Amino acid sequence: MQTIEAKQIMLDTIKRTRSLHAALALLEWDSMTVAPPKGEQARAEVIGALAGEAFVLETSEAFGEALDALNEQAEGLSPLERRIHAVAYREYLRNRRIPSDLYQAWATDKELSAAAWHRAKEEDDFASFQPHLQKMIDYNREFIRLWQIPGSPYDALLDIYEPGMRTEQLDPVFDHLLAETREILGRIPSQPAPAPLVVAEESQRAIGQWLLEEIGFDLKAGNLFPTEHPFTCTVHHGDVRLTTKYIPEHPESSIFSVLHEGGHGLYEQNVDGKLRGTNLADGASMGMHESQSRLWENLLGRSMAFWQSRIGRLSELSGGVIPADAQAFYRRINQVRPSLIRIEADELTYNLHIIVRYQIERRIFNEGIDADALPALWNSMYQEYLGVVPPNDTQGILQDVHWSQGSFGYFPTYSLGNLYGAQIAATMEKRLGSFESLAGNGEGLGSILSYLKENLYRYGMEKEPGELLTAMTGETLNPSYLTDYLRRKYSAVYGL
Ligand code: ZN
Repeated sequence: MQTIEAKQIMLDTIKRTRSLHAALALLEWDSMTVAPPKGEQARAEVIGALAGEAFVLETSEAFGEALDALNEQAEGLSPLERRIHAVAYREYLRNRRIPSDLYQAWATDKELSAAAWHRAKEEDDFASFQPHLQKMIDYNREFIRLWQIPGSPYDALLDIYEPGMRTEQLDPVFDHLLAETREILGRIPSQPAPAPLVVAEESQRAIGQWLLEEIGFDLKAGNLFPTEHPFTCTVHHGDVRLTTKYIPEHPESSIFSVLHEGGHGLYEQNVDGKLRGTNLADGASMGMHESQSRLWENLLGRSMAFWQSRIGRLSELSGGVIPADAQAFYRRINQVRPSLIRIEADELTYNLHIIVRYQIERRIFNEGIDADALPALWNSMYQEYLGVVPPNDTQGILQDVHWSQGSFGYFPTYSLGNLYGAQIAATMEKRLGSFESLAGNGEGLGSILSYLKENLYRYGMEKEPGELLTAMTGETLNPSYLTDYLRRKYSAVYGL
């Protein structure tokens, strides 16, 4: 096949599948927010048909032949086209190495596993879920064997979500984070939870809109809707939909989920226009994406400087329920309390929840541990790292959906986000001045956003996450930036 023809097939196929995925994203957003329940069945059929079309295109012989041909003819491609090809080929090879009957069995068993997990979590019945979990583990072991990705078996899974990341690099990073976090945690006194503030849903909506304007999210190229489990949905660069959940007696939940999803949204809105319609118009990796949600949510959004100048407006929008006392609000939103549930964890202990999951996953795939051993392992690690023991599996190993859907290797990207975020923030502070001086005013936040657009967001997937980090910060992943930040922060909050 001629280079020109192969290139045309590659670019056209990618563009068409992107369009189908945009329609699918919109349908998914719709079903999670405003869709009426009686349309569920018909909607599922529409989704199935579109997803089928996309799959046919992505795995078509013509697409595969074009990618194979371009693999031999890379000199006929521009640097950008070469990158488009590399990313597409990586994904294509992963798919091609799995026989289609194995893939179909996996798709079916995954649905059954997710359903079994729902029931098991509701009824606190790990035993009924165990065989499904074992199947998910076995499928992944088989995929790892077929993929032939260099490194340890678990590396092949990490590589799906964080291209280029390896356990060899991650182990010492997480060991450092674990030891430092436990040391800081050990010095924090336990205290009772503060009395809840009850803020009406309508007021919380106004607060959410205001916060998005404050951080520079373009509300003409996106919006905010309520949902059950907050997420960000990118239809395309001009339509980025954020979601949040309004809990009257817990306004902090929507405040910080809006800032979190807002960070994801800023990244998506600011990918360079030249990447539109290509497979590079996304964030660099799950970890890099998460670094931005957490930078806006935690590093800026939970800082004293951010609220010092905004607490008056927040108090006003809350109808006076949240007192206009920045110091009190700062302490409230930075309380540390070891807990059982990951998604409710504070900024410090959150990483411990991730390290438990990471170490378990690594042992499953690198040491051959099976599903039957996992509940006891989970509980003993929670006891050791967090000092809490789950009273049942619902609040323990059954709490997260990921493993039931066969997703292993995803969890570490949450903590990678915290690590990348702190390292990027430290470099930014050297260039622009301290967050202390920037977070309080619109101009300061604007300069942070401009810096991130210029050095990170615009690149989309043009570069690998490790490459971007080194280009931005001048070094490879270094956990000291996060642990130094945590140490400084909690010394200030608790006067340690
Ligand atoms: Zn996120």
